[in-house]
Amino acid sequence: MKHAAIIGAGVGGMATAIRLARKGFRCTVFEASESTGGKLKEIKQGKYRFDAGPSLFTLPELIKELYESPTDFQEHFPYQKLDRSCHYFWEDRTRFIAWNDPNKLRESLKKSFNIDPDPFMDQLKKSQKQYDLLAPLFIEKSLHKASTFLNMKAAKAIANMPFLNLGTSMNAVNEKLNHPKLVQIMNRYATYNGSDPFQAPGVLNMIPHLEFNIGTFFPKKGMIQIQKSLKKLADEAGVTFEFNSPVERILHQSGCAIGVKLKNQEVAADLVVSNADVHPTYHHLLPDVEAPKKHLQQERSSSALIFYWGVRKTFDELHLHNIFFAEDYASEFEKIFKSKKLHDDPTVYVNITSKMNPEDAPDGCENWFVMINVPATDQGLTSSDIAEAKEHILDKISRNLNFNVREIIEEEAVLHPKLIEQKTSSYMGSLYGTSSNNRMSAFMRHPNFHPKLKGLYFAGGSVHPGGGIPLCLSSAKIIEELVD
Ligand code: FAD
Repeated sequence: MKHAAIIGAGVGGMATAIRLARKGFRCTVFEASESTGGKLKEIKQGKYRFDAGPSLFTLPELIKELYESPTDFQEHFPYQKLDRSCHYFWEDRTRFIAWNDPNKLRESLKKSFNIDPDPFMDQLKKSQKQYDLLAPLFIEKSLHKASTFLNMKAAKAIANMPFLNLGTSMNAVNEKLNHPKLVQIMNRYATYNGSDPFQAPGVLNMIPHLEFNIGTFFPKKGMIQIQKSLKKLADEAGVTFEFNSPVERILHQSGCAIGVKLKNQEVAADLVVSNADVHPTYHHLLPDVEAPKKHLQQERSSSALIFYWGVRKTFDELHLHNIFFAEDYASEFEKIFKSKKLHDDPTVYVNITSKMNPEDAPDGCENWFVMINVPATDQGLTSSDIAEAKEHILDKISRNLNFNVREIIEEEAVLHPKLIEQKTSSYMGSLYGTSSNNRMSAFMRHPNFHPKLKGLYFAGGSVHPGGGIPLCLSSAKIIEELVD
């Protein structure tokens, strides 16, 4: 039986292990930390439970594909479709609920902004068209194999090139909506892969299709259920996990990957998959192999500063996903991506799983995951950066809710870029590998295979097709095809 050694038990590593084990490989996952999940973990603080990393769940069918039967999936992965994607707040007291139902969405657009909803709804149709044209090419296949481009789907996408807005920024496309708040809503989707809408190409305007047209979902027990389900599937497929087992080297000989080296042992393998960030993979695990500068020099995606707050009150105006917008979005992105500083008036995201899952917080309380986007840098944030940001965040939420939230915080934990890097080896603490701030960025992500070392593959958020749970799951699917 051929042996596959997988480095890292993040979403991408576990999904690859499940797929390869089903193909008949004996799979061993070597994980540096004590458990599975990588960025997708949970924390418990006092009587509160928090999903520590990802909070937005889209495209559940990518999880479904990992189940051997639809009945198994239904039974073991309970989740629900949400009736709305987000509650939006602006300082001028404008409020907007992004309903999933198109008729309710139209009403909500009229009520909140006093506008004709048609241009916004038309933009969502364009978003769908872009997604349908590009997903089979950019997301579901390796971009680094000629076969991806030699078929009808590719020909169709290429024929529609002008429609894809590759040469225009997201913001420039969205400005056609002619309404600053709608532009801000649509620009926000650049942050879904840690990018800047004022630089990222308009083609990323396909992201809102996932949320508005397909919908957002919530695993019944929280995002942690994704991690637990992948672990269960991997166990059932016969995958072996070695925890507290950091891999120190990828072994290779005569142009082939032949195994991995841990502290006290070498393990032979016919195939090696790195689910670790591609930076440390080259710099630490492959020091004797030339690092691909063009991939590694790409700008990193943004990182995050997160406060996990247990609050002694419930708020009817809040839902699972909530956004408190910065007044000047352009200068917030300028700070994050150009000055590499924190903005004094950041856009604040608040995720509250106890809205869906009451046992995540005590009665009459809520579990707030409060996040702002921050730059990914070598230095990380200082303690005074964090303290200052906390005050700005508290001021902003308190102003918007007309309530001093300082008074009700009874538990707190913090996650910041350096900790993200320490816990998951994500270079500079970036959430999604590289940013998509230039029009060639999709092509500049590292391929899912090594171009010279046969039998070495790459899965997860730092390589093609990108960061975020759905794309990490796609990377595993691409590897399965490549191995075939
Ligand atoms: P990672 O999660 O990066 O895990 C890599 C694993 O490899 C780690 O467990 C690490 O310990 C291990 N490892 C590294 N080096 C070694 C080594 N040498 N030996 C052994 N093991 C090693 N995505 C969404 O879809 N929706 C969201 O709402 C969302 N929000 C996010 C919020 C935050 C705060 C964060 C941090 C991320 C968020 N993401 C979100 C992104 C998403 O979490 C990631 O893209 C995804 O989980 C990354 O998975 P991965 O497969 O790349 O592995």
